[in-house]
Amino acid sequence: MVAPSGRHFLQIPGPTNVPDPVLLAIAQPTIDHRGPDFADLALDLLQRIRPVFGTTGPVVIYPSSGTGAWEAALVNTLSPGDRVLAFETGHFATLWRDMAERLGLVVEFVPGDWRRGVDPLVVAERLAADTAHAIAAVMVVHNETSTGVTSRIPEIRAAIDDAGHPALLLVDTISSLGSIDYRHDEWGVDVTIACSQKGLMLPPGLGFNAVSEKALSAHSSARLPKAYWDWAPVLEANERGYYPYTPPTNLLYGLREALLLLEKEGLAAVFARHDRHAEATRAAVRGWGLDVLCADEREYSSALTAVLLGEEHDADKVRRIILDRFDMSLGTGLGRLAGRVFRIGHLGDLNDLTLAGTLSGVQMGLELAGVPVDPAGLQAALEVLRTA
Ligand SMILES: *Cc1c(COP(=O)(O)O)cnc(C)c1O
Repeated sequence: MVAPSGRHFLQIPGPTNVPDPVLLAIAQPTIDHRGPDFADLALDLLQRIRPVFGTTGPVVIYPSSGTGAWEAALVNTLSPGDRVLAFETGHFATLWRDMAERLGLVVEFVPGDWRRGVDPLVVAERLAADTAHAIAAVMVVHNETSTGVTSRIPEIRAAIDDAGHPALLLVDTISSLGSIDYRHDEWGVDVTIACSQKGLMLPPGLGFNAVSEKALSAHSSARLPKAYWDWAPVLEANERGYYPYTPPTNLLYGLREALLLLEKEGLAAVFARHDRHAEATRAAVRGWGLDVLCADEREYSSALTAVLLGEEHDADKVRRIILDRFDMSLGTGLGRLAGRVFRIGHLGDLNDLTLAGTLSGVQMGLELAGVPVDPAGLQAALEVLRTA
């Protein structure tokens, strides 16, 4: 039975918990999106959002899910039949590949075991082999939310540069932006894709593309059909603080509040908090005697941890028991990981005791589901939280 009192624990890796100041901001009356107050809001936001991406360039904001922002990145930079290089890091990378194919791109999809990120050596090999420079773009999911693995973008960038290859670099930061260190300009990313409901602590409904100069020049010759997703009319209207269609005004109120919260804590402190919570979570998992799905410690995700169970246990049964008994939602196993893993989200609006409560619920749920765990796991996590 769901406990009737207290707050639901939403510990899935997105949507994440929305802080009260953000909810209150969203509850303000909707204003005229063609009036002067809207322009003040938008002009402020369009500047304020840039540091979160680590860019001084434009960020296009759409009323959309992350999937829409994926599509926008592809249709604004590429042409029918263009070759792109993508990597099977997990469920989301596979969905993005499927989308690229449906749009008429030719995808070179490097297979993966869903426990590792993009191997920069493979990027180097594939690009070096492409002497004709037929590959127009490299598509990377920064934080693969289905597996809890974070790919190393600076090393991937270096591999592209070392190969002397002109391909665009398109990066999905949907579950890393605002949680894990990320630098669009410094890392030479051409389009950074994000959305509202993960590290940015907002409800679903906003999609983002941060756009480099090189991506803008690719846009001028890109021939994939686009209308709603076309950057050009949005960027043009944004100059004056407006949109070519009705913008999601109330979500933009929320975005301003979320950006103020991130500024107040400071991005470096936000990232350090996520790193520490991830470390505490892994300490619990190991202490329980279970496995973290991510196989390479250089790629541990600070946004979520996927916990791998033995064949004899059903991860969805564990999740069901935790929801019924403790009113907490955890992430399910996606795609080929269905039933094998559950995912603990530790991104967004979270503090030490939220995490301690989360891990307590997970430990009790595992015990109730008959998964043999060492209760020292929780203690190991508390130790990390206490000493750090
Ligand atoms: C959540 C997620 C998506 C999909 O975003 P939607 O808002 O559900 O369309 C894509 N990529 C990653 C890495 C994600 O975490």
